Amino acid sequence: MGKREWMSGGAWGLHKTHDIGAEQLSVLVVGTVAYDTVVTPASSRESALGGSATYFSLAGSYFAPVSVVAVVGEDFRAEDRELLESHHVDTTGLEVAQGKTFRWSGVYGNEDVNTRETLDTQLNVFADFSPKLDSNGRGQPFLFLANTDPELQLDVLGQMNGRPTLVALDSMNFWIDGKKEQLQRVVEAVDVLFMDEGETRAFAGEVNLVKAARRILSAGPSAVVVKRGEHGALVLKNNLVVSVPAFPLAEVVDPTGAGDSFAGGFMGYLAATGDLSDDGFRRAAAVGSVMGSFAVESFSADRLSSLSHEAIDERFRALTQLTRLPALGHNESLPRRGD
Ligand code: AMP
Repeated sequence: MGKREWMSGGAWGLHKTHDIGAEQLSVLVVGTVAYDTVVTPASSRESALGGSATYFSLAGSYFAPVSVVAVVGEDFRAEDRELLESHHVDTTGLEVAQGKTFRWSGVYGNEDVNTRETLDTQLNVFADFSPKLDSNGRGQPFLFLANTDPELQLDVLGQMNGRPTLVALDSMNFWIDGKKEQLQRVVEAVDVLFMDEGETRAFAGEVNLVKAARRILSAGPSAVVVKRGEHGALVLKNNLVVSVPAFPLAEVVDPTGAGDSFAGGFMGYLAATGDLSDDGFRRAAAVGSVMGSFAVESFSADRLSSLSHEAIDERFRALTQLTRLPALGHNESLPRRGD
């Protein structure tokens, strides 16, 4: 095993050199692989590849090895599996069951593209999905429990060989309303919780976001990532509060998958560097924001799946420039009105 050189140094800037020979940690994701029908103010698309595990694995695959555990139906297209495999996503755990693939359809607001209405959810083969991890899956050091039934999430966590290095969880209103107790049990057992603003408030029973996140932190997780759509994200970890902007885009084609792509970039970066320090989390949040911004530039994973590392670095640099506020020097203060 190569000697790991822990990343350190300034947050936000890119490291010039890579640690050649260091072993990259890999990430296991359990979630949905789906066919989505989506209507946005820009246009619409029918039965396109989507699902939480799809967006997560494609985004994460640019940084670290990703294995996916999910179920699809007999209608799952060979080219969609090939797309994942062309990104070196391990699809050994992508089970094919009799029946149809999970289908979701939604429409986004004309006035506010951040608002979406689910028109239809067909669980199909997902209704009876009870994942059984193989020995490779059980030993993965990073685990992302994408948005699914909290009982399934707890079951997967229980199958892991001991406690993975980092476990992250995503959930949604559907489970907060329907299975709050089970969701609470899985939240208590994870390190990082991803939720959007409304879900964080609803789950914590607290309107103020900082208080809501702190309440969740006191229940167990060591970090909470509050996704705020076009307003970026807020990361709370111990005494650390990081606000990362969304990359400002002139046109958002389809916001579907932004949250899962954020999580994929975030976890992929942490797995690739092994840096779980505060600065590691700052950088991971910026990488997450970058990957979320690519996801929304096209329908399905069209843009997300055709990126170069140069394009990712370039957007990362642009994002860091956006947030470069001139700091106050040590002995400096802001101008004061002279009397
Ligand atoms: P995001 O926009 O990041 O929240 O994720 C959107 C993806 O989640 C879509 O591609 C859907 O296929 C998938 N999805 C929608 N509803 C559910 C659900 N109830 N459980 C799991 N995945 C879902």
